[in-house]
Amino acid sequence: MISSILVANRGEIAVRIVRACRELGIRSVVAFSDADRHSLAVRMADEAVCIGPPAASESYLNIPNLVSAAVLSHCDAVHPGVGFLSENAGFAREVTDAGLVFIGPPAETISLLGDKVQAKQTAIGQQVPVIPGSTGSVADIEAARRDAAEIGYPVIVKAAAGGGGKGMRICHREEDLAGILQIASAEAQKAFSDGTVYLEKYLTSPRHVELQVLADSQGNVVHLGERDCSVQENHQKLVEESPSTAVDDDLREKMGADAIRLFSSLDYVGAGTIEFLVEDGRHYFMEVNARVQVEHPVTEMVTGVDIIAEQIRAASGEPLSITQDDIDLRGYAVECRVNAKAPGTVTHYYPPGGFGTRVDSFLHTGAIVPPFYDSLVAKLIVHGRDRDEGLARMDRALSEFEIAGVPTNIERQRDIINSRVFQGGVFGTDVLAHIMKEIGQ
Ligand code: ADP
Repeated sequence: MISSILVANRGEIAVRIVRACRELGIRSVVAFSDADRHSLAVRMADEAVCIGPPAASESYLNIPNLVSAAVLSHCDAVHPGVGFLSENAGFAREVTDAGLVFIGPPAETISLLGDKVQAKQTAIGQQVPVIPGSTGSVADIEAARRDAAEIGYPVIVKAAAGGGGKGMRICHREEDLAGILQIASAEAQKAFSDGTVYLEKYLTSPRHVELQVLADSQGNVVHLGERDCSVQENHQKLVEESPSTAVDDDLREKMGADAIRLFSSLDYVGAGTIEFLVEDGRHYFMEVNARVQVEHPVTEMVTGVDIIAEQIRAASGEPLSITQDDIDLRGYAVECRVNAKAPGTVTHYYPPGGFGTRVDSFLHTGAIVPPFYDSLVAKLIVHGRDRDEGLARMDRALSEFEIAGVPTNIERQRDIINSRVFQGGVFGTDVLAHIMKEIGQ
């Protein structure tokens, strides 16, 4: 078993990993930038090491500094968390070359899945249904025109190296295609140093449904049911729930079988997610995220499985502690992401509690929200016996949540949860626009 982990991340996910380490009897060492010197993860960890100045490029994305920090602090493994270097094959390779365990799939698997065009080809090879689109990346405008005409407008231009909704543009008419390709490709080049793009049919109001998968080095692969992440703003998730109101037992079984077949064909170890769009009861593969996701607690609440602990177990070479038969989806869970609308110092913090309520956060009175990183400051997750009970509990919990000194989206999340559209359970990824109309914003 791994005995000592360098946490190569910050914020709430660093706190989450430190907590898992403590429960497993593993020593945790948090890598921090100058901006996070007094953060909760640093205070909670057994040890902490400064890895550079505030700019992420010089600290949380600084591979040599992170690897030396792990070696010098005598860690035997590195947990990359989410974002930053969590899907960076080069980082996984450097960690492994230094003789340490990377908590995630092998570098080659990360690299294959990080190229969405290759990932889609792999899915096709495993008979997983995919969204109709160009067979590979777009070679030139002529080929793109031919592909788009065949797929039918509207089409969406996506970056092969994509992530965080960057390099993604919708095109409704052929005359706009050349210009949109150029913009998307330039954006992808800037964000990922790779301007490769591909085309897909643009589904106007699909559901975003993803399955949590766990795999170990013995070849065991299990899925933990789905999460519905259709409530999005600029293709970024805001609210996630499980089960999805768009998934019945039959569809869950089909998606589960596809997930297990695809992951079993890959050299996969640890936690991963397969993302689908669902329209008219049919599912279409979108991509695989080769890491743990922000919304993993939703699945933990309905399955009772500690996903971070399973990741660590699998990385240690141990078998998963559960089999598919052990997975029992109980009740309903929903997560609201609490984002800071501006940086600052928290002058007052009172998190909700009570039955079925969980808060994953790095905040406390006096905590600093630096201006350099992601705006996510807390995740509020609740469990209920069914969706009605879960949503009532979420409204109650949001109403208790007090954060002063840093403006947040808590009130807006309450509006979303209480909206007729969201409560009705019938919607697609464009739901936020409908909710905003309903509440008059
Ligand atoms: P990223 O990795 O950049 O987050 P994804 O491929 O995961 O990009 O897509 C993010 C979101 O973009 C999806 O949840 C969905 O809302 C939208 N999207 C992606 N592809 C399509 C498509 N073909 N049709 C409609 N919406 C799409």
